[in-house]
Amino acid sequence: MIEANHIGAGATGASLGVLSTPAAGIGFGDPDEVIHGRPRKLWHRDRLAAQRFLLRLIDESGTDCELQQGAVLLAPTTQNFEHLAGTVESRNALYESSDVMLNADELGQEAGGRVAEKFAGGLVMSDAHFVQPARMIAGLAGLARSLGVLICERTEVVGVQARKGGFRILTNGGDVSAGNVFVATGGYTRDAVPYLRARTLGLPSIGIASEEIPEEEVRDICRSGRVLIVNRFRTYTCRPTGDGRRIVLGGPVSEVPGTPFENVRRLHDYFVRLFPDLTGVEFTHSWVGMVAATRDGAGHSGMHNGIRYSLGASGLVSCADAGRRMAQSILHDDTVVDSQFRRWPMRDSEHLWCRAAAFTDGLRDLVGKSRLR
Ligand SMILES: Cc1cc2nc3c(=O)[nH]c(=O)nc-3n(C[C@H](O)[C@H](O)[C@H](O)COP(=O)(O)OP(=O)(O)OC[C@H]3O[C@@H](n4cnc5c(N)ncnc54)[C@H](O)[C@@H]3O)c2cc1C
Repeated sequence: MIEANHIGAGATGASLGVLSTPAAGIGFGDPDEVIHGRPRKLWHRDRLAAQRFLLRLIDESGTDCELQQGAVLLAPTTQNFEHLAGTVESRNALYESSDVMLNADELGQEAGGRVAEKFAGGLVMSDAHFVQPARMIAGLAGLARSLGVLICERTEVVGVQARKGGFRILTNGGDVSAGNVFVATGGYTRDAVPYLRARTLGLPSIGIASEEIPEEEVRDICRSGRVLIVNRFRTYTCRPTGDGRRIVLGGPVSEVPGTPFENVRRLHDYFVRLFPDLTGVEFTHSWVGMVAATRDGAGHSGMHNGIRYSLGASGLVSCADAGRRMAQSILHDDTVVDSQFRRWPMRDSEHLWCRAAAFTDGLRDLVGKSRLR
């Protein structure tokens, strides 16, 4: 494994560590209804298996990742609330979970501040988990090493050339040969494989962490200890740290990463409206990660000129599962077909696309659209 920076330096290390896969495009409802050629229940079964796969790996790594359970999806509008409520029965049947809807009055059990005033209610997702990402990454890297994987950090791949029976990988630390290549460079994809760069954009998301504050204040924000996720098109997340001493916030906020101070201010401004008590709290840590955006908003796994790739999958669980599936395709020497991976027109105008994405996603938020999680 070759990593340009240190392991986990990309979006994975920047994430808020929520382990829950979006059911994008599949929806909830009749388990036997055929969606994209398969019964809905099979898509959801895959989703559940993907989540369990990552949890099993974390468990096998033997690392304490500060694993915590439970998430609350906050519904900004009554329509959004009703929409989520309409999925509960199906969720519980498909995931063997015990999700429940809470109305605005009941939200006070989950979150303090003005959350109960600002939201129509929320969905408690009992099978969601969250971890401390840096610990998860260290654990998984340790597990990989124990299985014989050599991880070359601070080594950038600058090109991949096909050779008889395999590939020559060109890096800034020297070249190596490989029988198979799997590229998973996410929102950091550059020119090493121009085909993939033309089809991927990196969109920034931001995370910030507060200074240490009294545990009672943290508990007053996340009252049940579950992670709070605003169910809008763009994801805003709020969670306690494992030691219960800090609040961690995440969101998309800007179309191009600003300075750390600007990032803190933007995210802080958003959350202060929900939790006025955060007004005087200092946010001492701020970081940015680039999330891969594809033209159709879907993850793409496939092969181009023999090079396997998986890019644009949404979230930690989906990305881990995409890696598992690609590893299997190498073991079984399967060809992976992906005929729908369209290039971004004017790919070099990256800033323009980032602004356009921020604008359209903002508009979707305004009209109350949300992603199905
Ligand atoms: C602030 C933030 C919060 C998030 N919160 C959540 C969350 O709570 N839950 C969730 O499920 N998802 C979350 N996400 C999204 C999630 O992090 C991503 O979907 C996922 O981690 C992407 O994983 P990946 O392996 O595809 O890419 P990455 O983790 O970005 O990995 C790509 C790696 O490729 C390396 N690389 C790039 N080019 C080269 C090269 N030429 N040579 C060698 N190495 C190279 C990069 O250095 C990078 O480390 C969040 C994202 C951000 C930014």
